[in-house]
Amino acid sequence: MKLNKDIIIAIDGHASCGKSTLAKQLASTLGYTYIDTGAMYRSVTLYAMQAGLITDHVHTQELINELNKIHIEFRYNAKLQKAETYLNGKNVEEQIRGMEVSDWVSPIAEIAEVRAHLVHLQQQMGKNKRIVMDGRDIGTVVFPQAELKLFLTASAQERARRRFLELKQKGQDVSFEQVLQNVEQRDRIDSTRAVSPLKPASDAIIIDNTNLNIEEQFAVAVSILSVRFGNGIDCLL
Ligand code: C5P
Repeated sequence: MKLNKDIIIAIDGHASCGKSTLAKQLASTLGYTYIDTGAMYRSVTLYAMQAGLITDHVHTQELINELNKIHIEFRYNAKLQKAETYLNGKNVEEQIRGMEVSDWVSPIAEIAEVRAHLVHLQQQMGKNKRIVMDGRDIGTVVFPQAELKLFLTASAQERARRRFLELKQKGQDVSFEQVLQNVEQRDRIDSTRAVSPLKPASDAIIIDNTNLNIEEQFAVAVSILSVRFGNGIDCLL
């Protein structure tokens, strides 16, 4: 698919509502780079856990002091045909998706200094446009000038159901209740935090995908793209 100019696509929304699925589809269709900013907050959380900076609470000041020791990169795995997250040179793609990281990531993402550090990196990654970036504050804070902003949502039950199936498929030992509680708790913290709370940008298009499957959601996004940035029917090819 060809657009009439290079753009930034910002995809924000609630936990586990299919942001990364849509972002990957769009990036692959457009030949753009996909950037998963949740993986960056998850990597900082894993670092904090491994460095003993999370006990029964987050040792905030110590973590802030160590931010410059945390190196996060995305490396393309040609065999799996997807980018994987590396923390200080180690592949952490699986580890950062586990429940323990999920339980601590939102408190870590509330820390203003962590956000400033990661937002700066994200802005560097998008300086040449041609990216699809997903997260919570991409359209509001990271790229308020993004040419296309989508805000995805779905009912908490449906999101937890999808996430539960995904975790079960990966062999993780979790209950549906645990997943639902985590999804609801992350939404609550993400939406009410003082710095960059999760909310749709005023110019975002909101897509509720509770009753849409993956292909239907993709079709909605493609038609928005072709109306806004298409060169007639050619852009769909
Ligand atoms: O996208 P994902 O669910 O993996 O993100 C994990 C957590 O990271 C979110 O629940 C949120 O607390 C935090 N996050 C954020 N800002 C972003 C991306 C993720 O606060 N841009």
